[in-house]
Amino acid sequence: MSFNVAIDGPAGAGKSTIAKLVAKEMGYIYVDTGAMYRAIALYLLRREVSADDESAIASLINDISVEIKYQEGAQQVWLNGENVTTKIRQEAVGNMASATSVYSCVRSKLLSLQQDLAAKTDVIMDGRDIGTCVLPNAQVKIYLTASVKTRAQRRYNELQEKHVTCDINDIMKDIEERDYRDMHREISPLKQAEDAILVDSSNMTIEEVVNCIVSHCKERM
Ligand code: C5P
Repeated sequence: MSFNVAIDGPAGAGKSTIAKLVAKEMGYIYVDTGAMYRAIALYLLRREVSADDESAIASLINDISVEIKYQEGAQQVWLNGENVTTKIRQEAVGNMASATSVYSCVRSKLLSLQQDLAAKTDVIMDGRDIGTCVLPNAQVKIYLTASVKTRAQRRYNELQEKHVTCDINDIMKDIEERDYRDMHREISPLKQAEDAILVDSSNMTIEEVVNCIVSHCKERM
């Protein structure tokens, strides 16, 4: 049986940075499920479909193919035969992903892809509903969070490094809106699984968070 680690938490909590480092240390494959929602969002943005138009999205869903491949250990997301790994990182795509991930047609399309990946290999999978819905039997479940202020500051620093002009108050507003939508949607809302370990990274270094998760993994092996 494969060993599964689920990491859930709000946007900007550092899930992907942490999960990649834990994956490297433990020899797991890192699966970023947000990237799958982003790929669908990119398709819908390109087709100029409104995020509110559930029936249009449902009618297009079977035209969308999302595949996950690995290149030198790094996850690559393919949308209808095109590698979109870098294109899905824009803010607009993230916002569209958050708005369209509320629909059951979108979530059910990605559920089996995620479960199949985890059944075949040892994975650390991050998202919003991994511990609660996708991998309810994961051996380790982590709920990784940080204060809105900390998450906004981290995002601001990242954008500054890339010389992107931004306003920290806009980033905070965006984060709050996304948190609200992710936590209050009807299907698979973001919440801490009952058996998940809560890790608040607001005052922790990356190394401290990684060490904490690695030690939980070693305990459960
Ligand atoms: O994690 P990331 O910011 O890339 O995810 C983009 C959006 O996809 C999230 O805001 C969330 O609404 C959605 N998502 C989800 N379930 C997951 C992963 C992401 O609903 N397992």
